Amino acid sequence: MKKAIKVFKFGGASVKDAAGVKNVAHIIESYKSDNMAIVVSAMGKVTNALEGVIDAHFNHTGQAAELYEAVKLQHYTLMSDLFEANDIVFETVNDIFVEVDWILEDPVDTEYDYVYDQIIGIGELVSSCILCAYLNKVGIETVWLDARGLLVTDNTYREGRIQWTQTQEYVDKQIVPLLNQGKKVLTQGFIAATDDNQTVTLGREGSDYSAAILSYCLDAESMTIWKDVPGVLTADPRMFENVTKLDRLSYKEAIEMTYYGASVIHPKTIKPLQNKTIPLHVKSFLKPQDEGTFITNDVDANYPPIVIVEKNQVLLYISSNDFSFIAEHHLSALFTLFDKYRVWVNMMRNTAISFMVCVPNQPDRLKGLFKDMERDFSVMKEEGVELITIRHYTEEMLTEMKKGKIILLEEKIRKTFQIVAKNVPIMKRKMD
Ligand code: ASP
Ligand code: MG
Repeated sequence: MKKAIKVFKFGGASVKDAAGVKNVAHIIESYKSDNMAIVVSAMGKVTNALEGVIDAHFNHTGQAAELYEAVKLQHYTLMSDLFEANDIVFETVNDIFVEVDWILEDPVDTEYDYVYDQIIGIGELVSSCILCAYLNKVGIETVWLDARGLLVTDNTYREGRIQWTQTQEYVDKQIVPLLNQGKKVLTQGFIAATDDNQTVTLGREGSDYSAAILSYCLDAESMTIWKDVPGVLTADPRMFENVTKLDRLSYKEAIEMTYYGASVIHPKTIKPLQNKTIPLHVKSFLKPQDEGTFITNDVDANYPPIVIVEKNQVLLYISSNDFSFIAEHHLSALFTLFDKYRVWVNMMRNTAISFMVCVPNQPDRLKGLFKDMERDFSVMKEEGVELITIRHYTEEMLTEMKKGKIILLEEKIRKTFQIVAKNVPIMKRKMD
C-alpha cells in the first residue's frame, strides 16, 4: 500500500536564527517515521534585503555588492552557530552565493522582472541548504532538491504560471523514489523554472503555493503551514485587539479570505488542495502541540466576523477623454490594459462618465499602465487608501470599522462588506 505523505512548509520566521533552525528540526524529528516533503522559505527578512540588492543593482547606486555582503553575513553567522568551522555546508552555501556575485558584476541589460527572479531566489536556495545540512547532522536523513528541477512555469517572471503536466512528471520522477527509500525531501518555496531553465518566482509569499503544488502532485495526506501565529485569526493581531483563532475553516471561506487579502496564506494555495481534498493545517512552530487551524471541505456556517485590511491601495477615477459614457468597449479596453500590466483590481464601480477601481499601489506597474491609457482616458488618483473587507459582518462591527475614516467607496453583498477608506487626518491643535 502507498504510504501517506505529509507536506510541511516552514516560513522565514521559523528559520530566522540558530534556535529557529533547531526548533524546526525538533518538529520534524517528532514526525520521523512519516513520509515527508519539506518546503522552506528564505530566512526572515532576507527576501526584503535581496529586493534592496536588486534595486541597487538595477539603479546603479553602487551599493549592491555591499548590501549583498550583509545578506551573506547573516547566513554565515547562522552557520557558525550551527556547524563546526570545517563543515562542508560553508562551501556549498558559498557556491550558491557566488552565482549572484556574477550577476552583480555584469551590466544590467535585461528587463527588471527577469533580473529580479534570477537574484531573489538565492534566499531560499541557501536557507534550504542550511536546514538540510542541519537535519542530516542531527540524524534525520534528508535529500535537498532544487525546486527549479521540480516546478515548471511559463516565463511570466515574478508570477510564474505552473505547467502542471510537466511538474507532475518531475515530482513523480524525483521525489517519489526518495520518499520510497524512507528519506525526507527538502526543497525551496517560491522558486521554479521555465522549461529552458530560467529561474522564475511565484510571487511574494509564494512558498505556501509551492507547498500546495507539491501536495497536489504527491497526493499528500495533508499539508501543514508552520507559522509564528497560532493559526488563522479573525484579524491581524498587529492591528486589532481581541482577535481569536478560527479552529476550522472551509476551503471556500479560506479562499474568500485570502482573495480579499488575508496574508496568512498565499491566495493561490487553497485551490490545488481543494481539488484533491487535501486538508491544510496552519500551526504555530512555537507551540507545535497546539491545534492550530484546520481547513477542509466541512462547511461551518457560524463564522465570527473576520476583518481583512489591505493597506497601500490607490483608488483610480478613470474617465474617457472624449467625455463619452463609460461603456462596454471602454471597460474591455481597460481590462486588457490591467491584465497587460498585471494590475489586479480589488474593487470597482462604474458611474455614467467614470469608472472607479481600487488597485494595489505598485508604482512600477502603474507607470506603464498610465502611459498606455493616456490617449483615451484621463485618470485621477487617490493614494494612501486602504481596502477593508469584513466577512460575516454585524452592524456594530461596521460602525466600529468606519470610525475615524473617510469612506470613498463601499459595497455590501451577502456575507461581505467592503470599504475603501482613508484615515481622517489629525488636525493640529492650537497651542493657546
Ligand atoms: N521568501 C519569499 C517572500 O518573502 C517567499 C515566501 O516566503 O513565501 O516573499
Ligand atoms: Mg508567508
